[in-house]
Amino acid sequence: MKGDWVQSCKKCILCETRKNVVWGEGNKRAKMVFVGEAPGGDEDRQGRPFVGRAGKVLDDLLEKAGIDRRDVYITNVVKCRPPGNRKPTEEEMEKCMPYLREELDEINPGLIVLLGSTATAALLPGAGVMRNHGKLLGKFFVSYHPSMAFHGSLGEMESDFKKIGMIHKALKAEKKLFLLDYDGTLVPIVKNPDDAVMNKRTKEILLNLKQQWKNVVAIVTGRTLERIRKFVDVDLIFLANHGFEFYGFDLPHEKRFENYRKMSSELCERFREISEVKGAIIEDKGYGIALHYRNADETKFFESFNKLMEKVDLGEMVIQFGKKVVEFRPKEEWDKGKASLYLADHFSDYLPVYIGDDTTDESAFIELKNRGITICVGKKETNAEYSFDNVGEVLDFLDLFVETKPKKGENRKRETDNRKRERERKRRIEDWG
Ligand code: URA
Ligand code: SF4
Repeated sequence: MKGDWVQSCKKCILCETRKNVVWGEGNKRAKMVFVGEAPGGDEDRQGRPFVGRAGKVLDDLLEKAGIDRRDVYITNVVKCRPPGNRKPTEEEMEKCMPYLREELDEINPGLIVLLGSTATAALLPGAGVMRNHGKLLGKFFVSYHPSMAFHGSLGEMESDFKKIGMIHKALKAEKKLFLLDYDGTLVPIVKNPDDAVMNKRTKEILLNLKQQWKNVVAIVTGRTLERIRKFVDVDLIFLANHGFEFYGFDLPHEKRFENYRKMSSELCERFREISEVKGAIIEDKGYGIALHYRNADETKFFESFNKLMEKVDLGEMVIQFGKKVVEFRPKEEWDKGKASLYLADHFSDYLPVYIGDDTTDESAFIELKNRGITICVGKKETNAEYSFDNVGEVLDFLDLFVETKPKKGENRKRETDNRKRERERKRRIEDWG
């Protein structure tokens, strides 16, 4: 690597006081690169990054996150030690940046972790560490510099690194089963549910993910199959209607669930009166009904609702409260969680990654807890192990797995990948045929 001849670099004043130029080290094919600030005393003496006190902190954080240091690549913005460990100047950073760019170009990692304000200023100008740590921003993840562990930030760093560990695990898994809720996960929640259209970027991400032979993508939603397929016009697996309607594979109980269609239309009839409350909407979902009150006066809605409930015989249906919606669903041991688990069992050698924001996603978080990665969108009490801030972060995450055009020399690999993908698809069709 260039590290050798850079040893004689004299582009900035730091060359006068350094003992060694400290080039990055680690796996050249790493999925993840960690960028620090500049070498300290120990690093300068040994010629290796993060081997001193801060290095020990980083080692511990990596270990706790389940990441093998040899599996990633670790480097700094500036390759020579600033005297007395002062911060590198803008000029020094600017002079040294081409080396960092070169390292990043060569490795082309899935994720770049920025450790502290210097790395953040260098690669993601304008993004403050305090404000953005613990978040995915495009293909960057901002966290504190390990030396901040001595200034009270260790707890926050540990939680940042837990998330980094999750991303690393997902990036490393060869085969993934993405289980994605729709509303509030792939598209923001909107006032009128009919307006929840997917934007171009989301569609491109889903298309790309699905085209890779090693991924299976399933949409897991409370919406009916008919409606969700209008929004998501990509040929994926669908577990619609809380798992009661499916597309893309067969479930054993399909026939039994059919009885619920009649019960649903009867129930709709019973609740007809509620549509007199302005803004309330009754939806016959085939396998249950939904009473939406997003646009209605909540008090008036529940007045009418409670009155009607006194007269209704729920029979084989159960009630469930969602986001501004009351639903009646089949009284079956079947929900998003059970349906997702069924799919995860079918694709047993795939790592399940479930992302959802709704209370109905909790069943999936519980079922998949020890099987794969569970991510809740929005900060709330949840059974999911990880959380994302919003739809934007979900998309940034999914984007990490999108394959870009192959670099020179990668075409051969791409061809074998295509062939593998075809074989995999055929196998799947045979399995279900
Ligand atoms: N601090 C850094 O930013 N980099 C090192 O390599 C060591 C300490
Ligand atoms: Fe060269 Fe970078 Fe060292 Fe400056 S800090 S002398 S630019 S290697």
